[in-house]
Amino acid sequence: MPADAMTATVPAFDQVDFEVHSPEDGRLIASIPAATPEDVQRAATGLRDAQREWEAIGPAARARHVLRLRDWVLDQEPHLLDLMQAEAGKVRQDAAFETAAGADVLAYFARRAETFLRARRPRPHNLLTLGKALQVNHRPHPLVGVITPWNFPLFIPLGDIAPALMAGAAVLLKPAEQTPLTALELGRGWQEIGAPDVLRVLAGAGDTGAAVVDAVDYVQFTGSTATGRAIGMRAAERLIPCSLELGGKDPMIVLEDADVPRAVAGALWGGIFNAGQVCTSVERVYVHADIYQPFVTELAARAGKLRQGPDTVAGTMEVGAMSDPRQVAIVRDHVGDAVARGARVLTGAGTADRAGSWIAPTVLVDVDHSMRIMQEETFGPTLPVMRVRDEDEAVALANDSAYGLSATVWTRDRRRGERVARRLEVGAVNVNDVFTNVISPPLPMGGWRDSGLGARYGGAQGLLRFCRAQGVTSPRLATRADQLLWYPYSPGKSRLAAAFVRFAVGRGRRRLARPEANR
Ligand code: NAD
Repeated sequence: MPADAMTATVPAFDQVDFEVHSPEDGRLIASIPAATPEDVQRAATGLRDAQREWEAIGPAARARHVLRLRDWVLDQEPHLLDLMQAEAGKVRQDAAFETAAGADVLAYFARRAETFLRARRPRPHNLLTLGKALQVNHRPHPLVGVITPWNFPLFIPLGDIAPALMAGAAVLLKPAEQTPLTALELGRGWQEIGAPDVLRVLAGAGDTGAAVVDAVDYVQFTGSTATGRAIGMRAAERLIPCSLELGGKDPMIVLEDADVPRAVAGALWGGIFNAGQVCTSVERVYVHADIYQPFVTELAARAGKLRQGPDTVAGTMEVGAMSDPRQVAIVRDHVGDAVARGARVLTGAGTADRAGSWIAPTVLVDVDHSMRIMQEETFGPTLPVMRVRDEDEAVALANDSAYGLSATVWTRDRRRGERVARRLEVGAVNVNDVFTNVISPPLPMGGWRDSGLGARYGGAQGLLRFCRAQGVTSPRLATRADQLLWYPYSPGKSRLAAAFVRFAVGRGRRRLARPEANR
């Protein structure tokens, strides 16, 4: 979405219930009542009550519940895959990515939370505070609202629920209206393992999401830039923090010394995985002129051979349906706009040979930055490829975007790849790889520019962001030095206090010796 088309309006509350349809053929799967603002407030009250005890039991006890949820996800995998396939149109292998990555993130934060949350004890930095013990405590924001999109119905909620719960917060999850079933099942799983009532899932559309923003102490949002802006504005009004993980237009830079077959394979999986509906999908490709022709020839040939269709056994199909018919229309618009402006479609043509929300993997060449497909988030299985003169041109074009989520760089020279990474205006870069940052909770995953505010993951920071930091001072040594600043004032105490500070921070004899030299 271009920046000027973004609106920041929060919709009026008129939703009563909504339907979930299969992306594969459009059939109705479920009809679900939408949570009203009263439902949201009631849930928030219950969660806040339960949160106190949840915080009090400490990270080791919390970890036992969260690891039990990890077990539940693995035990229930076939059922969860069925649900994800039904509501999101995924092939089974893409759905299985979610259970694996979700279990991993649950284990990551459960096992490390105790260390991450440990109070820090920084050393006093000057003579006046030398006798003090300094401490930084981490106390959770009591209620975290997690609002998620439809492209990863399990992994994205778990990626934020895991650190928020381990921080000691309670969580109110509002999944996307297109794909609420997996998330509702996750909420049921939390009850089934006998965990405290600190995780609830409420279904609904944008108006339910807006009610969540109004009820919580911290908003963790993943979704489009337009909605992120609206939520950021509301959070500012309420003076609550928010973390916004938004859209992207991720560039792939293929330099002249790249391993071409690997780069082609990376472009394919990076651009087509999950039918291209990944925030960090490869959305545009810049290939050095020296290797452009072999790269494009191999890419088109391999894209044309990808197996697309519904499946029941993981590994039998490669490309699923698009999860939302509205997204199909956007992809077709982008391809149509590109072709009208002179692009050539080498394979795919942005359509597929069946009813439902299907788009065939599509490779385009002769594209340029006047086209929507190179500027706006397409979020579909498209790979527009552009020839570039050299590294500088590739970097300039990669940075010519409103977005700044992530990027990939392909070169046999690892150091060169890391050097190019530092020139890119994005929150993450994978060298000779795709998506690895997304499954690396030790790294921050956050967008720059219109791609977001804040970041998820990032080791300890991924958990501490759900906390408020509390500084505590207490006496360590029996000293009256701190009273130098207290009443009663006297010229002697005044000189002594100034001397203490000047001794610690001053420079030059004049400043050290004559506290009032500059009067
Ligand atoms: P969306 O913004 O339309 O909806 C996301 C969620 O916000 C849904 O649950 C929706 O019901 C809710 N919502 C809508 N209006 C709201 C409001 N006014 N207040 C509160 N909640 C509201 O996004 P989408 O179409 O579901 O998801 C696709 C987008 O998500 C893409 O732009 C994609 O790039 C982005 N995304 C980003 C990341 C990331 O980590 N950066 C990950 C996945 C997807």
